[in-house]
Amino acid sequence: MSQHIPLKNVIRKGNDNGDGWVIQLETQTGRTVYGIGVAQASTGRTGPTWSYIFENDGLTIIDLGTPGSFDNFLDGYSQLPLSTKDIKRVIFTHGHSDHDGTAHEFCSFSNAELWAHKNYAPLKKYKIWEIQDRESSVLQKELMRISSILISESDRFSRWNQYSDYYSNKKNTEISRNLSDQESFEDIQIVQTPGHSPDQIVLLLDNFMFTGDHILPEITPHPTSNTIIKKEVSDSLPSFLKNTSPWFGLGTYLNSLSTTMRLGNEYTILPAHRLHNKGEFNWIDQSRGLEIISHHEKRLKRIIQRLNSNSDSLEDLTRGIFEKSKLLGSNIFAAMSEIVAHLEFLEDCKDIQVSNVGKITVLGEGDSYIKELDKIRSV
Ligand SMILES: [Zn+2]
Ligand SMILES: [Zn+2]
Repeated sequence: MSQHIPLKNVIRKGNDNGDGWVIQLETQTGRTVYGIGVAQASTGRTGPTWSYIFENDGLTIIDLGTPGSFDNFLDGYSQLPLSTKDIKRVIFTHGHSDHDGTAHEFCSFSNAELWAHKNYAPLKKYKIWEIQDRESSVLQKELMRISSILISESDRFSRWNQYSDYYSNKKNTEISRNLSDQESFEDIQIVQTPGHSPDQIVLLLDNFMFTGDHILPEITPHPTSNTIIKKEVSDSLPSFLKNTSPWFGLGTYLNSLSTTMRLGNEYTILPAHRLHNKGEFNWIDQSRGLEIISHHEKRLKRIIQRLNSNSDSLEDLTRGIFEKSKLLGSNIFAAMSEIVAHLEFLEDCKDIQVSNVGKITVLGEGDSYIKELDKIRSV
């Protein structure tokens, strides 16, 4: 629990899951930040996307919402004592559709600029699942092979197909400023925290840390898996993106948690989801990072235990670790890709090896990952 409760005023009450709330927050130095719980166009597990608005050389907005939710954003914004004419820029915490989903509508509505991490612009032309060279990794090949048996292609990619307009519009949006790690702009400081996505950043303003999906209350952000980009795409990318290991994977994500924890414990976290849920606000600080690391540690431990008791394929492991209810329909793809991210981390720690037919075995004691996690935690 954070010491400093930043809520100054409730401008409009919304639903128990956070939809529709409009609030006024105050930093320790007395700076005003507004928050809007922008309801998703279709209901999702994560609740609304929280959009934050404050003055920093003109009005700055952090994140907008899911495709189809622009009216919900404007409706919330209309409650603020601010004019939309004064909006100077929107900064995206990362390029997932629940954050930049209405960028296109926003640009037709306003002349404000769009800013994002430097990895955002070169990747926004692509759907990340299309550019990954899955042939280069046995686990990735297995993930695709098993899901093609269990899930129909239309189900597997239903979310992406549903958002086809979003993807085609995204190609044409213009990013005015590509942000780098440790860059400052007036009173904001940018810290890159890749892992949940390759372009994830957190923003620091006084004692507030806007975390996007890097740190969330109640839920553990989904880590990416190690990603090798197809050569034909990689050739068109800037040099800093050609080597993908600093940007993707569970290890990258956990190291980013370490980065944010090293910033000290005095920040109040303003996440993109679950700021308000079940009728209550969730005020957290970076120590939430330790809980997220423990969650992954437990999962890694269970994977090693199951491997030791003769579960040796990706499908078998996934079915052994997730409850049945989480494996229905296309959910098994998300569950398996989560397990892949963990297996890749164990592979990098030399705790397991994967044969070329996808048989997974433990190497030695299979406990090097514990040392690695202790290193990540020792901040
Ligand atoms: Zn995300
Ligand atoms: Zn999100």
